[in-house]
Amino acid sequence: MREDEVALAYGGGWVDRAGALRADPDRLATLLGAAAARVLPLWQDRCLVNDVVPVRLSGEVAARVRAAAAETVFLGFVAGQAVFAVDLSELTEDAALAAAGATRVVDVRGLVGRLGPAEAALQAYARGLLHWHRQQRYCGTCGGATSVQDAGHARRCAEPNCARLYFPRIEPAIIVLVEAAGSPGRCLLARHAGAAEDAFSTLAGFVEVGETLEDAVRREVAEEAGVVVTDVAYQGSQAWPFPAGLMVGFRAVAESDEIRVDGVELLEGRWFTRAELRQWAAVGHRLGRPDSIGHHLLSGWLAEGEAAGSAPR
Ligand SMILES: [Zn+2]
Repeated sequence: MREDEVALAYGGGWVDRAGALRADPDRLATLLGAAAARVLPLWQDRCLVNDVVPVRLSGEVAARVRAAAAETVFLGFVAGQAVFAVDLSELTEDAALAAAGATRVVDVRGLVGRLGPAEAALQAYARGLLHWHRQQRYCGTCGGATSVQDAGHARRCAEPNCARLYFPRIEPAIIVLVEAAGSPGRCLLARHAGAAEDAFSTLAGFVEVGETLEDAVRREVAEEAGVVVTDVAYQGSQAWPFPAGLMVGFRAVAESDEIRVDGVELLEGRWFTRAELRQWAAVGHRLGRPDSIGHHLLSGWLAEGEAAGSAPR
């Protein structure tokens, strides 16, 4: 990654995934048996931590924890060190804590700002991969049991007549900052069902079968806010393995100002100028989760206004 590229939380290519090794069980066994190997345990999608430091096990403790887990998956190399992950979800919370020598379990998103970007990305990667293994125990075609393949990056149906291969599932979703045409610059934010009264955020939704990402942007904004958009432009993406998301960020331009929220997904939609948005944030309202691409899209839009004075984009 170049220095001027922005890595959003939970991604950024910090791990050398060493994909070629996944088909080399002998080499992996050697790596796993080496003193330098580290094993990262998770419990029901959560990190096992001491205070706010996720535990990473080695030696005999790692071997004991691996024996208590269903399977061990290979994540890759971090700073030259082979890192594996195990899922202790089948133990009780107390048993998992005791086995790993940890004091508590916490979701990686609850450690925002406390973990370095590489650690946050590694924990999210392990979380998403182990979650998928728990969901793919059985074959969707014949109902047979599946077993781990490729060091944890696939599963295969054990029924000889089927043998269907499964890969970790990723569910893409779009998130879009919709701008009004003309001056002054305004963006469309909405209050989502279930969100707090003052929580306005960008529009988002899952990509459906047979859609491009751009199709999904146009459809979601039309369906949820009644706004027709053009000039759909890619802004970046964010790994969001909670449990299986990939957030793909866009900007788009509205053809008209009228907003008609669907009343189901969105309860209220509103245009904000940059000054209004700054005012909104200044009185304590948050602009989405600070670790999210939605926040990144909004802060980028605000910063652009600062760079350009009051000129429209
Ligand atoms: Zn099958």
